Amino acid sequence: MIVVFALVTSLAVTVFALSQGSKLGHALLEGAAPALLSVVAWKAPFGRRLRASLASVSLMVAAAMAVHTSGTIEAHFLFFIMVPIVALYEDWTPLGAAALVVFAHHAALGALAPQRLYNHPAAHQDPLLWGIIHSAFFLAICTTSILHWTIHERARAEEDVLLDRLASQALHDPLTGLANRTLLHERLRAARAASLQRSEPLLVLSVDIDGFKPVNDSYGHAAGDALLQELARRIQACSRAGDTAARAGGDEFILVLPGSGGNVAAGIARRIMKAVAVPVQLAGTVLHMTASVGVALGSGSETIEDLLEWADRAMYEAKHAGRGRYVVYDGLRNSATDCTLTVQPVHARSWAAYTRTLRLEIAAAKGQGRLPQQTRGPETARRTLESLLAAIDQLPSTPDQVGMLLPERTALQEFVFHHELVQQWTDALTRQGILNVPRPAEATAFWDGLSRTVTDPAPVVGAGSVTGTIA
Ligand code: GH3
Ligand code: MG
Repeated sequence: MIVVFALVTSLAVTVFALSQGSKLGHALLEGAAPALLSVVAWKAPFGRRLRASLASVSLMVAAAMAVHTSGTIEAHFLFFIMVPIVALYEDWTPLGAAALVVFAHHAALGALAPQRLYNHPAAHQDPLLWGIIHSAFFLAICTTSILHWTIHERARAEEDVLLDRLASQALHDPLTGLANRTLLHERLRAARAASLQRSEPLLVLSVDIDGFKPVNDSYGHAAGDALLQELARRIQACSRAGDTAARAGGDEFILVLPGSGGNVAAGIARRIMKAVAVPVQLAGTVLHMTASVGVALGSGSETIEDLLEWADRAMYEAKHAGRGRYVVYDGLRNSATDCTLTVQPVHARSWAAYTRTLRLEIAAAKGQGRLPQQTRGPETARRTLESLLAAIDQLPSTPDQVGMLLPERTALQEFVFHHELVQQWTDALTRQGILNVPRPAEATAFWDGLSRTVTDPAPVVGAGSVTGTIA
């Protein structure tokens, strides 16, 4: 807009020169200099500061041309009109450029033709002094403009701080500083959209502190608040950059982990439970807290309400199952599973190979009449075995431990119960020499982990000597 104004002013200078009786060529020349400067300021690929300075010089040259054309002292007011316009840039450089033009104009023209610039004899006798006096007045008006914008700048900075604080208060829980429900929903919506777009999984965890009310009742609300702050800090520390930790209300927290799937669900749930289980020194005593965790496994295709509901449902299942544990709700399979199992893929594969060989041996023994035909486990246990074998087949070939999603808990318990019996039976058959399938140590390691998980779905690994202290 300032550049456009400078162009219009250049045109006005030409028209004014014509109206003052200048010849067309002369009048065009008067307007050409500021017009050229403003066109360069408009179009040239220079930085903002240089372009602003050129526009400023254009305005000052236009004013100088008007002074030159009119030959009257009143035309000087144009310089003062230009200052607040240049000050709109809120930058010292264009204002300095304007001051330089005024000074140069008064020094040069004042020295060469003081009669054209000043209309009193004192100035004609000492043009340099009067050039300095005029420039000083010009600088004074520049200073008032600088003051004006500095005050505005400060007010805007204060306003920005206030707005930031208000925005932060509107989106964060005042007690813990975690995201509140509004921000949680915003982040969930973004995470869901990203997960859908990139075909990546999405984890939502609901974490509720067990037996929190008695802390309030025994040690007071303030102590309860301090405990919530400490636990919120620990829960947040379990998340990575890009994750969201929110306080959903009371002693319930929600974590959103974009890009994370079933393979890390158990790991993160255990990490949170371990963080909460580290003893807390509070009000002169040491508290041992636990948390129940519900995990929702999403693919981005479900609504955020679904994800929150699944995580909540899984968390309540963990509560009902005895607290201090986690439950994974697998939305993809639409069934509640007790947890994922952290396995060494090589152990799991060894168990799968051993089990398959065992099945072949049993079938062969039945075919040869060494075993009776009617020995068959229940159908559900057979189906669970198939889904376990399929899950093992999908494990990555890595030497590191990975998380493996387990089938639905009740079915898994039934399968473990029956498989233990089958194992005792096949061990006895091996001792009798009817079967010859030695069980590798790796296969036994996998089985022990699996059966432990079923009987104790989420043991919190010892908190060790780490102690959290809060005031
Ligand atoms: P559960 O094991 O079933 O989770 O039971 P709980 O005792 O933890 O109680 P519950 O989760 O049902 O309720 C949470 C309690 O937390 C209710 C309320 O007394 C307390 N609470 C909620 N908000 C605050 C708060 O801001 N500060 C404090 N100090 N306590 C709170
Ligand atoms: Mg609770």
